[in-house]
Amino acid sequence: TSQLMVGKRGLIMGLANDKSIAWGIARSLADAGAELAFSYQGDALKKRVNPLAASVGSTLVLPCDVGDEASIDALFASLKDAWGSLDFIVHAIGFSDKNELRGRYVDTSRQNFLTTMDISVYSFTAVVKRAAAMMNHGGSALTLTYYGAEKVMPHYNVMGVAKAALEASVRYMAEDLGKDGIRVNAISAGTIKTLAASGIGDFRLIMKWNEYNSPLRRTVTQEEVGKSALYLLSDLGSAVTGEVLHVDAGYHVVGMKAVDAPDI
Ligand code: NAD
Repeated sequence: TSQLMVGKRGLIMGLANDKSIAWGIARSLADAGAELAFSYQGDALKKRVNPLAASVGSTLVLPCDVGDEASIDALFASLKDAWGSLDFIVHAIGFSDKNELRGRYVDTSRQNFLTTMDISVYSFTAVVKRAAAMMNHGGSALTLTYYGAEKVMPHYNVMGVAKAALEASVRYMAEDLGKDGIRVNAISAGTIKTLAASGIGDFRLIMKWNEYNSPLRRTVTQEEVGKSALYLLSDLGSAVTGEVLHVDAGYHVVGMKAVDAPDI
């Protein structure tokens, strides 16, 4: 393992269990020597997150519901007390009512539209603002997005609209914070079977479709997302900001179903 992250401290938001993309990222950062803090949503997840955090040597495990400003403030106040400064932040959080992750986008309710935008888009801006205030020597922020931001994917619906806004927010924050040496990027991950993904209609079929039609003829692993995250969060990515990096076995370049793919 490399020593790329030795002496760097960062916050990982969005760890739910060992299938989470946040976990693939956390492990690659810890392997490279980073010191990690974790935030989790609600008491139910605490007992899952605690042992995972402990296994990568982290003792800073803090609650945060990103729908609540006071909760975000409390998280960053605790971090400031414990560490004073911060080098990176990972936002691996998204939410939408799963009843609207099937059927038609046009049927999205106002309430779920607002909730989806709040939790999946605004929360990244809210946490980056606070993290940046603690990044005294520059820093790096990373969020997770999906191809459904760029092209229509079945059932992704309002989440695709939210991811498009999230990607735009990456670009605006890259400009705002670049002068302070803070980089802001996103990874557009291929489909991975996680808790959040299981809420999307026909997710198994979408996984198979990616496996048969991506240039690499497979899906991606959380470890592979972790490796690309290490690139963007470490000095290896020092000139990269405002970027949406596809870590999707190449799926995003394909314009037509592969001739060797089975009919599914
Ligand atoms: P996951 O279920 O493991 O993680 C989602 C996390 O969001 C959970 O930890 C959950 O607690 C957190 N969360 C939801 N609402 C929250 C709130 N109000 N406050 C705080 N935390 C909240 O699933 P995942 O697939 O690892 O998702 C992580 C990110 O990756 C999401 O942004 C998702 O859209 C994105 N992504 C996933 C895939 C995939 O195929 N799994 C592909 C591309 C992008």
